[in-house]
Amino acid sequence: MTATLDLAAETRAILTELGVSADRYTGGTLAVTSPVTGAEIGWLREHSTAEAKAAIGRAHEAFLSWRNVPAPKRGELIRLLGEELRAGKAALGRLVSIEVGKITSEGLGEVQEMIDICDFAVGLSRQLYGLTIATERSEHRMMESWHPLGAIGIISAFNFPVAVWSWNAALAMVCGNSTIWKPSEKTPLTALAVQALFEKALKRYVAEGGEAPANLSTLLIGGRDLGELLVDHPQVPLVSATGSTAMGRAVGPRLAGRFARAILELGGNNAAIVCPTADLDLTLRGVAFSAMGTAGQRCTTLRRLFVHESVYDQLVPRLQKAYGSVTIGNPLEAGTLVGPLIDKQAFDRMQSALAAAKAAGGKVTGGERVENGTADAFYVRPALVEMPEQTGPVEQETFAPILYVMKYGDFDSALALHNAVPQGLSSSIFTNDMREAEMFVSARGSDCGIANVNLGPSGAEIGGAFGGEKETGGGRESGSDAWKAYMRRATNTINYGRTLPLAQGVKFDV
Ligand code: NAD
Repeated sequence: MTATLDLAAETRAILTELGVSADRYTGGTLAVTSPVTGAEIGWLREHSTAEAKAAIGRAHEAFLSWRNVPAPKRGELIRLLGEELRAGKAALGRLVSIEVGKITSEGLGEVQEMIDICDFAVGLSRQLYGLTIATERSEHRMMESWHPLGAIGIISAFNFPVAVWSWNAALAMVCGNSTIWKPSEKTPLTALAVQALFEKALKRYVAEGGEAPANLSTLLIGGRDLGELLVDHPQVPLVSATGSTAMGRAVGPRLAGRFARAILELGGNNAAIVCPTADLDLTLRGVAFSAMGTAGQRCTTLRRLFVHESVYDQLVPRLQKAYGSVTIGNPLEAGTLVGPLIDKQAFDRMQSALAAAKAAGGKVTGGERVENGTADAFYVRPALVEMPEQTGPVEQETFAPILYVMKYGDFDSALALHNAVPQGLSSSIFTNDMREAEMFVSARGSDCGIANVNLGPSGAEIGGAFGGEKETGGGRESGSDAWKAYMRRATNTINYGRTLPLAQGVKFDV
């Protein structure tokens, strides 16, 4: 049924509605495929290295001017961007679903997240606070000032093709920076649409008397080589890179080599512990959404589940039933809960992980391909794998819906296993025992950047700082004080007296 959809025509209509001219997505060499049907829906022209270098130079010029605009006025531009996103939410959300294969509510939810971060950034534009610090010298004042950094590089992954840009760009811009975005080569159409909405907001801002330079937001279309160019360019003081740990391993040392800053948002291998007192109805729903939602293609997807032996035989058969009955298919149709994998490579990786799990003694339910009438789209039944121990593929992130389930008897050993993987993004505990819950979120508990109680590990809100530890890269984006990463801190000491007392009682009379 999905094979009969004309997604290329619908994509054209959406892009036109959002203000993208046809020459931006026709006649180029970068083919974009919708995972919904496997059909090609766009052909973009890629930027050459010379074009990208020139664009970075222009973004730097934009920064030199934008940093002079007062932060609350910069916030006004982001407020207008939020308005454009509200107006374009239905169309952009649909395009996310077509280009990535997310179900309708998740495509819309991703745009809602962009709107939410715009609102957050508008408030922030009046709250870029520095401290006043007690000084040991009389008639002196010491304070902190926060200043913008420059042209900020943003490299994003396919699975959150637009929200990740907004987490970075909305904050970076109210902080006084310009941005240069290199989206995933698998999802450049949604990036074109976002850039068009940004340009609409900018036009309104200028029409209303706002001051803003050209090239405040730059979009670079292309592959890894353009990402590398951003990473190596001396006029890019910070790169926020979202993607696999392999990407971060390549990017991190290159940035460090030129003393540039990095926000690394990399792979996760997220787990949950289900304790004897857990509310099993709630646990079932939390696990099902976190493990099967987005077809297992969220960085925060639940991939490992430790279930106490006293509730294992109650919970696991119910989970198996949910895995067997979940609606898989066209994500654009109402009622579908699990859409396609992004491509054949993702399908092949899932099958190899399942084969390795079987070889390690795993009992696999599901995981097979679900036919949808086209050879080029990859729908799968999510897989639930009962594992005798945490070994082999369980220790790695496979970006597909595989949930490894393991039985435990002792809380401390479950917690130790929970933390015994290289990644450290998100985590959960399901319990009604206050001691277990508090222990899990304490310094001795989960070692992840996100630790939840009685909800799954996936589906973060923009108000909190988002990111993880260890091989997840250590970066934080979005809420809380993540804005500080996009600014440089200056400590200022001002002497308003007529003497020159030195710190620590040092004497130097000439
Ligand atoms: P990917 O690593 O293949 O690509 C991500 C981006 O990095 C793309 O734009 C790509 O062109 C670019 N890139 C790749 N190698 C590069 C290099 N050496 N230098 C510069 N740029 C380079 O990832 P993907 O398959 O698009 O996305 C899935 C992965 O992203 C998963 O591992 C997932 O966990 C992770 N992810 C993490 C977060 C997070 O916030 N922690 C969020 C979303 C996705």
